[in-house]
Amino acid sequence: SLSDRLNDTFDRLRGKGKLTEADITSAMRDIRMALLEADVNFKVVKDFVAKTKERCLTAEVMDSLTPAQNVVKIVLDELVELLGSTESKLVLSSRIPNVIMLVGLQGSGKTTAAVKLAYLLKKQGKSPLLAACDVYRPAAADQLATLGGEIGVPVFRGDGAHPIEIAQGAVREAVDKMRDVVIVDTAGRLQIDEQMMQEAVDIKKAVKPDQVLMVVDAMTGQDIVNVVSTFAERTDFDGVIISKLDGDARGGGALSVRAVTGKPIKFVSMGEKPDSLEVFSPDRMAKRILGMGDVVGIIEKAQEAANAEQLEAAERMLRDGFTMNDMLEQMRMLKKMGGMKSILGMLPGGQRMLNQMGGSIDDSVFDKIEAMIQSMTKQERVKPSIINGQRRARIARGSGTTPADVNNLMKQWGEMNKMMGKMRTMAQQAQGGKKGK
Ligand code: GDP
Ligand code: MG
Repeated sequence: SLSDRLNDTFDRLRGKGKLTEADITSAMRDIRMALLEADVNFKVVKDFVAKTKERCLTAEVMDSLTPAQNVVKIVLDELVELLGSTESKLVLSSRIPNVIMLVGLQGSGKTTAAVKLAYLLKKQGKSPLLAACDVYRPAAADQLATLGGEIGVPVFRGDGAHPIEIAQGAVREAVDKMRDVVIVDTAGRLQIDEQMMQEAVDIKKAVKPDQVLMVVDAMTGQDIVNVVSTFAERTDFDGVIISKLDGDARGGGALSVRAVTGKPIKFVSMGEKPDSLEVFSPDRMAKRILGMGDVVGIIEKAQEAANAEQLEAAERMLRDGFTMNDMLEQMRMLKKMGGMKSILGMLPGGQRMLNQMGGSIDDSVFDKIEAMIQSMTKQERVKPSIINGQRRARIARGSGTTPADVNNLMKQWGEMNKMMGKMRTMAQQAQGGKKGK
């Protein structure tokens, strides 16, 4: 992944001590390759590398005692700059209802994002209303209605009506029912086509949204320039939501989008669950890309998901290593926190660990793991090392799984136990680092 590649480059630099111009040139070549392979727009890469290199080649950096550290810092700075420097929060106007309209290609994640946004606003004390203006995809309105139902946000469907009428109807409904934000989910086609564009333009004219947000799939590669510039021309938009940043996307789209559009990234979507929309922070994102870990993100997630008791348990695990009981508890907490991958992805080097595990921590295994642990005896849970072949077979039978599944669980437990050790070291280092500053 991009993080791994950049980390390797940095490791090589750190191994050198004093740096020559050739070292910087070679590091910049690595960074250019890594960014291109992550599908960052080539023009963006070119500018990025040129600027970064120029800053790295100054005497201040080259003659410093820790040149490699300085290079990392410059790359970080430039990434933050590229991503937009400042957090750009969604600002609602005083108009009631506020209208937020989502645009983007089909499958980019508009409907999912609409629901997540509604959920976020609801948590902030707003009372949103979702407007189902995608009348083309079969069951699109059903999808929105189902998801809206899950988070307790009403959906205005206007079945059979024209999308413009649905949008207008939703605004009227919001006035009647005292809903203060209308989120308009629109249709999208696989390719940009004229009819779809015109419809989005017409809806925009009809309901005059306070904010138009474009949803961009993190997987969009070089094509991103065409896609966003067409939307910019026709519907214009105030900000961007990057979706599917949790997937295997190389993530280049997210890096290019600000530079290409000049529009701020407002949110990133990190999963399919309603609570996986995060306010975008360039600094945190850049650190994540550089594998520096997103400690703030983890803490925020932990605060959201965990009660004091669970946090205490987490602390204890960091201190003492953990048992299968802890693992069960942890699984349940991780599930609430948006899944293992999302947490690991935020840890320094976490992505690398995940890869080393063959990316095998999949949230669907949570249930299986729960069943297996529940089939263990008290003693086995506290001291998993006693689980021999015979016990494995019994646990498998008891949980409706296979001995291979139990073996996997044992392996994962071992990995997590190790990871706890690593996290402990990192926590200690982080504390030490803070004191040093
Ligand atoms: P739309 O056509 O633009 O409305 O796209 P949808 O919201 O229907 O999303 C298309 C697919 O992508 C669905 O299967 C979603 O569950 C999935 N999806 C959307 N956002 C995310 C995300 O942030 N992460 C992941 N993993 N999947 C997503
Ligand atoms: Mg949709």
